[in-house]
Amino acid sequence: MPIELDMDKFREYSTEAEDENWEFRSFLKNCETPEHEIYNTVRRHFRDVSRDIDCTACGNCCRELRPSLQPGDVARLARAKGMSEAQPPRGLRRGIRRGR
Ligand code: SF4
Repeated sequence: MPIELDMDKFREYSTEAEDENWEFRSFLKNCETPEHEIYNTVRRHFRDVSRDIDCTACGNCCRELRPSLQPGDVARLARAKGMSEAQPPRGLRRGIRRGR
C-alpha cells in the first residue's frame, strides 16, 4: 500500500475515519492489555511501516508542524548548512519555537 504524502488527502481520510479513530482510542483506554505490550506492538508496526517511508520525498512534518528546538540547535543547524550562527536565515528563525 503506497504511503499517502498529500496532506489534503490525508486530512480527508482522517476526517472520514474520525469515528473509527475515536472508537480505537476508547478501546485503548479501556482495554486490559498492559501498556508495554501496546507500546511494543506500536513500535513493531512503526518499524515495518517506516522502512517504506522516504522522509526526503515528503517533508510534511517540517512544513506542517513547528519543530521544537533546544538551545544550541539553531547554531548546530546553521553550522551544518555553512551559515552564520549569529544570524540564522529568516526561514529558520520563523520556524523556531523554544523547546520545553
Ligand atoms: S517527513 Fe515527516 S510527515 Fe513525512 S514521512 Fe517523514 S516523518 Fe512523516
